[in-house]
Amino acid sequence: MSLKETDSLVYGLVEKELEYQKKTLRLIASENYASKAVMEATGSILTNKYAEGYPNKRYYAGNRYVDEIELLAIERAKKLFKVGHANVQPHSGSSANIAAFFAFLEVGDKFMGLDLPHGGHLTHGSSVNFSGKWFNATSYSVSKETEALDYDEIRKKAIEEKPKLIICGYTAYPLIIDFKAFREICDEVGAVMMADISHIAGLIAGGAYPSPAMADVITTTTHKTLRGPRGAMILGPEENAKRIDKAVFPGTQGGPLENVICAKAVCFHEAMQPEFKGYAAQIVKNAKVLADELVASGLRLVAGKTETHLVLLDLTPKGITGKDAQMALEEAGIITNRNTIPFDTRSPFITSGLRIGTAATTTRGMKESEMKEIASMIVKVIENPNDSELKLKTRSNVEELCKRFQVY
Ligand SMILES: *Cc1c(COP(=O)(O)O)cnc(C)c1O
Repeated sequence: MSLKETDSLVYGLVEKELEYQKKTLRLIASENYASKAVMEATGSILTNKYAEGYPNKRYYAGNRYVDEIELLAIERAKKLFKVGHANVQPHSGSSANIAAFFAFLEVGDKFMGLDLPHGGHLTHGSSVNFSGKWFNATSYSVSKETEALDYDEIRKKAIEEKPKLIICGYTAYPLIIDFKAFREICDEVGAVMMADISHIAGLIAGGAYPSPAMADVITTTTHKTLRGPRGAMILGPEENAKRIDKAVFPGTQGGPLENVICAKAVCFHEAMQPEFKGYAAQIVKNAKVLADELVASGLRLVAGKTETHLVLLDLTPKGITGKDAQMALEEAGIITNRNTIPFDTRSPFITSGLRIGTAATTTRGMKESEMKEIASMIVKVIENPNDSELKLKTRSNVEELCKRFQVY
């Protein structure tokens, strides 16, 4: 029986969510619209199979086609990111990071990541997360003047702290990371170089961002700019294959989600097509136009510019908090998220910043001129967060714009 016949309540809610996704502007930097092919694979009968272990080394029988699919996903991932090894089993970015930690560290070992309010992820050493509870987390920060990474400072900190592992790759950093500089720092202090490219994987696959292939271990989600199913993977050189695979299974996971792995294979195929290069380049062009327009309207950009899919706004000049801006924009059909800015004086629940990304709107086909429209709508709402009429009017403008750029 279909979902509609079995459970009309859930079916109705999924339909509502579909309409909502179609009619609103998705500007959350970590979100995208997966293709129908990716969703078909995710919803496929591969969900029925248990496949603990790895292709040709499973603990259960009956994996002849599952093995072929997972091997295809692995081969495509290696080719796409130009690495010697890929593990496509991690269920999520956080699960991938847990496995990467256990592949290279013992509980209590010291590692170094970017401070959370400066753009690091929870799994990079937050005290409420496994990374901060089970490991000895130290952090580096962005420069107070430039709000960019200061590689000399990071090097000094690394020499001082002697971490066993250093993480680069972030959730809210708008500039290009100098992976070579991190490689040199890691070599100098004898640390494992871990690149968490969750946000920028699609840009890297599409050639719009430098490759981190010199890292000892690379973790990434597959659902952000890479536009695949919700999930993750771990990449790296062949020499680290065994320890990575062991850390994923049996180290930290049981049966892999073969339906999701199947969808990852499809996602990698899509990312290998020539069109994907154009997509990645357009994401960055769109972010730059959006950023320029917002600056022209008196907003301040963290780090002064963007070189990625992501714009981090400091709302202080407009006298509104991240929380209030996020709420007002949501009422206007513009979906964003509040975000701390470096050296933020407000709590992570309130924040002084707003994070905006262009991956999803670019998937809809929007280009520079639509970014200008979007920037103008954002600014008006941020300047008049309590103007109900304006928010209503903006919402209908958003719906019009969305109608011109259909998804699904
Ligand atoms: C999104 C993200 C993650 C976590 O991914 P989940 O799938 O949400 O667990 C980890 N690291 C970085 C840098 C991210 O941006």
